[in-house]
Amino acid sequence: NHIISIRDVSKTYDNGTIGLKHINLDIKKGEFVVIVGLSGAGKSTLLRTINRMHSISSGDILVNNHSIINYRGKQLRDLRRNIGMIFQDFNLVKRSTVQRNVLSGRVGYYSTFKSICNLFSTADKRKAVTALQQVNLAEKLYTRADALSGGQQQRVAIARALMQDPKIILADEPIASLDPMTTTAVMNDLKKLNQELGITILVNLHSVSIAKQFADRIVGLRAGELIYDKPINQVQDVD
Ligand code: ADP
Ligand code: ADP
Repeated sequence: NHIISIRDVSKTYDNGTIGLKHINLDIKKGEFVVIVGLSGAGKSTLLRTINRMHSISSGDILVNNHSIINYRGKQLRDLRRNIGMIFQDFNLVKRSTVQRNVLSGRVGYYSTFKSICNLFSTADKRKAVTALQQVNLAEKLYTRADALSGGQQQRVAIARALMQDPKIILADEPIASLDPMTTTAVMNDLKKLNQELGITILVNLHSVSIAKQFADRIVGLRAGELIYDKPINQVQDVD
């Protein structure tokens, strides 16, 4: 019943830098897990092994009880479609509308040509509105992305991820460039998707105190090693 199972995973980059050392971590379906650690601890490396953005050097990773490490072709596309990815810098097309940015989350559906000619289906446009409603931004449908605040842009990125109906969302320092107010809005949105849609969520953060407000469980990494893995009520405020 683990949606993600990371088994004795180590990762050494091509230049010899150690990313991860013998990581073991099981994530239950519907859990909200925050991974904390300083810069360079391996948080980003860990998240990116789960959707195969990074390969691993040894160990195994299971998603839905299937080892993903040798996935190719359709299996790999399906894996990535099931996993929404959120980044620190939003990765929106700044001069495009919110609607177009969200629609682009239909991975593989729209060629650049179709997108330029505005050939989106009505069903997908409705879906984009629904996704934006989930992050309380439906009224911004036709606003240009670069006219939004950082927090709003991150919520558009979350809506874009929702276009794939992800079972898992991996968020790599989603609030690192945001102020405290918008931080709360973004974390609340992730919490809501977790509780209302049952999406399993893994978030990388620096702050244990923010993690404690939202997570079910906190995993600490240091220098590529897992140093603790605890339910929130057993974690001290250390930052
Ligand atoms: P975090 O997300 O916790 O800041 P990272 O996973 O980004 O940590 O980095 C873990 C270690 O791997 C660091 O020493 C970092 O410099 C190194 N690293 C990350 N990406 C690469 C890469 N593409 N090539 C070489 N080393 C990398
Ligand atoms: P078009 O550009 O082809 O007119 P729209 O993007 O305006 O399409 O709308 C696509 C679909 O989403 C339509 O069914 C429309 O009714 C619905 N829709 C558009 N805006 C909103 C909104 N703010 N709230 C709810 N539904 C909306």
